[in-house]
Order: sequence, then C-alpha cells, then structure tokens
Amino acid sequence: MNVIRRPTVYLVGRQSVDEGQMKQFLEDHDVGQWTTDTSIAGEMLPEVAGRLCYMSFAKPRPGGNGAYLGHIKEVGHGSVLEHSVWNFIITGVSRSFTHELVRHRAGFGYSQLSQRYVDESVADFVEPDCIGDDPELHAVWESAVKESQEAYCKLVAGLQAKFADVEDKTLRRKMARQAARSILPNATETKIFVTANARSLRHFIELRCNEHAETEIREVAAQMLGILKKEASSIFNDYEFVDLPDGTRGASTKNTKV
Ligand SMILES: Cc1cc2nc3c(=O)[nH]c(=O)nc-3n(C[C@H](O)[C@H](O)[C@H](O)COP(=O)(O)OP(=O)(O)OC[C@H]3O[C@@H](n4cnc5c(N)ncnc54)[C@H](O)[C@@H]3O)c2cc1C
Repeated sequence: MNVIRRPTVYLVGRQSVDEGQMKQFLEDHDVGQWTTDTSIAGEMLPEVAGRLCYMSFAKPRPGGNGAYLGHIKEVGHGSVLEHSVWNFIITGVSRSFTHELVRHRAGFGYSQLSQRYVDESVADFVEPDCIGDDPELHAVWESAVKESQEAYCKLVAGLQAKFADVEDKTLRRKMARQAARSILPNATETKIFVTANARSLRHFIELRCNEHAETEIREVAAQMLGILKKEASSIFNDYEFVDLPDGTRGASTKNTKV
C-alpha cells in the first residue's frame, strides 16, 4: 500500500492564437496596426475580447497587456477572463479533495478516474500531514485503510462469484467494483482532469487558497496559483502568497471575485 502526502498538478494544455485569422480580423476592421506585448494566448485573447467590446484597438492606452488586464480586474469586468482556458491533471489526491473540487461548477469541466471501471485493490491512499506526522495516529490510520482495502478485495471476489452468470466479463467486473467501492475510504487516491477558465480559477483560488480551506485543497490551489502566476502573470500577478501560521501557503488579492 502506497501512502501519498503531496498532490501533483500538471498543466497539460493551454490555448493558442490563430495569428492569421487575428490579423485578418484586425485588417478587416482597419486596425491592422494593433499589437500587444504578450505572446501568451491566455493573456492575449481576453485583451482582444475586452477591446472588441468598445472596438478600442486604434489607440490603446500605454502599459500593454498587463495594464489592460490589471484594469479589467480592478473594475471587475471579469467576464472577459472567461476566454482564457487551461487544462490540468491532478493526481495524488484523495476522494475528499475531489468531492470539494467538483463543487466549483461555473467554468470548470471534470473527468475523474472511475471506481466502477478501475481496480482499486492496488489503490494508493492520501494521508493528511497531521496524522502522518504522528506515529500513533498514523498507525490507527494505516490499519483502518489496510482493512478497508482488504475488505474491498474480498467483496470484489465475492461479488464476481455472485454475478458469475453475467457473461460479459467487463460488465461483471463493473458490477462487482461499483458495489465493493462503497467500503473504500475518502483517503483513496484519485486522479482528475480539470479544465477551467481564468475567472473561475481566480474564484477557486480565493476560496481555497486561504486558512479557512481544508489543507489538501489549499495545497492544490497554491500549486495551481504558482503555475498560473508563471503562465499568465497579467491575470494572476495580483495574488501574493502569504505564509500561514500552520506552515502552509495562502494567497490574497485586492481584486476579489472579478
Ligand atoms: C472554507 C469552505 C467551507 C465549505 N464548507 C462547506 C460545507 O460545509 N458544506 C457544503 O455543502 N459546502 C461547503 N463548501 C462549498 C461551498 O459552499 C461551495 O459549494 C464551493 O466553495 C463552490 O463555490 P461556488 O458555488 O461559489 O463556486 P461555483 O459553483 O464555481 O460558482 C461560482 C459563482 O457562480 C455563481 N453561481 C454558480 N452557480 C449558481 C447558481 N446556481 N445560481 C446563482 N449563482 C450561481 C455564484 O456567484 C458563485 O459564487 C465550503 C467551501 C469553502 C471554501
């Protein structure tokens, strides 16, 4: 049984701009001279979206993309940030974490590892630091998790025998696993593919990267913010990381819920 103590966040996808079509649009509207100072699609696209609203390509104010999106955040015109989208894979997280994550509905898309299809007899488990750092509590946790996994294996075997008359092997396994999983703990490791836009990601960070949030989701939110600050600083540079009393990281901004 593998015990995991840290989540991993992979940024696996980002947008690109079709330069030819963008140039064509600008030329067709007599603003072919317009340029911006970012080559990052996730920063450029919301600027174009915002400028389109007032057709303000002809005489941009100084400061480039950073100043433009900074103003958008200050005045709370966050809808243009919905045009920036990233794709993440998050692994080494518990089912408790994903249960909290999927409560974020607006602007998020999810695909999560299926416990009906995937065999959990070899699953890893995610242990909170406050338990893992304490040998006595760790022993209690470990034995409970092992017991659950052993019960899961016995249930899968028993259910497969019970459903022996189901000819389709895949269906039989699914029927066994979907019932046996009821015994697995929240600590069971899972993997989730997450697509989200910048406005939703900002809301997620504000709710989850602070001292009120549970520690696992806080850590994921902090890792995502670290990635996004490098990926699209014009959108995420207003967040400052802060060290929280328990040694974890939070983040704050003056531009909340844009
Ligand atoms: C510290 C903390 C503790 C929590 N504790 C609990 C708990 O004990 N029990 C529990 O059930 N949940 C709990 N939650 C989850 C919380 O209630 C939200 O479900 C979660 O944070 C997602 O927030 P959201 O709805 O704003 O996000 P999203 O679903 O992403 O929505 C974003 C925004 O879109 C708007 N919106 C979305 N859907 C609608 C809608 N249907 N109608 C109108 N406006 C909409 C709202 O402005 C919303 O803020 C907790 C969250 C935190 C951060």
